[in-house]
Amino acid sequence: MQTKLINNKGLVIGGNKIILIAGPCAVESKELYTSTVNNLKYVDILRGGAFKPRTNPDSFLGLENKGIEILLESQKELNKPVVTELTKESNLNLFNDIDYIQVGARNMQNFELLKALGRTNKTIILKRGFGNTIDELLEAAHYIKKEGNENIVLVERGIRTFETSTRFTLDLSSIAVIKAKSTYPVFVDPSHAAGTKEYVESLAKAAIAAGADGIMIETHINPEKALSDSKQALTVDEYNDLVLKLDKVAKAIGRTIL
Ligand code: PEP
Ligand code: MN
Repeated sequence: MQTKLINNKGLVIGGNKIILIAGPCAVESKELYTSTVNNLKYVDILRGGAFKPRTNPDSFLGLENKGIEILLESQKELNKPVVTELTKESNLNLFNDIDYIQVGARNMQNFELLKALGRTNKTIILKRGFGNTIDELLEAAHYIKKEGNENIVLVERGIRTFETSTRFTLDLSSIAVIKAKSTYPVFVDPSHAAGTKEYVESLAKAAIAAGADGIMIETHINPEKALSDSKQALTVDEYNDLVLKLDKVAKAIGRTIL
């Protein structure tokens, strides 16, 4: 089906231009955040989690309100929108100035959260649960749409399979299936699928060749020191180099990325 465009303040998702989302897994401090995102040469939407739904409650759970503040400062300083994860409706008031709201894999079927987001006019970046089928992802999106918000982007970020050599298995076929069954733009997050930075490049290239409308890549100024997902984060230089390679793949299929 024809992908429906989402135009959020002039940034068009689902068109010829492939959208780049980059930044660290989590916002860890003002210094670390700005030293990462200020050095990204090509990026459309800055990412970074302030509320982190982690599997282990003893791990870093995010700076919460302070993290949102840091994101909003960068949004203003760089004049680029940010995307960050919302984990519960009661925090929505902190997201007034945030145009892109991420629903994480672990919350894909948090139906009350989806309904609440359906009552906003934000662009929702809905990540596929790693134990969920494509049809379940489409049904989750329908919860948002049914409340009136049609600004939804679906993100393939890998699913759990018997394969353990990557963190998750990137289901590239989901791009074709979602495009056949719906009009939602599809982004791919190769970082969480790979789990290790050495695999990010080939997965990102494959995602673009397969028709992804955007990619989300975790980057960090000093990946070894990252408080979450350190093994999969690219340095800013690696990211900047990667985008130039992705541009060649995009051009080969008649799209642009820069
Ligand atoms: C993230 O984007 O940092 C994240 C937690 O992703 P996911 O929900 O896909 O695991
Ligand atoms: Mn992460």
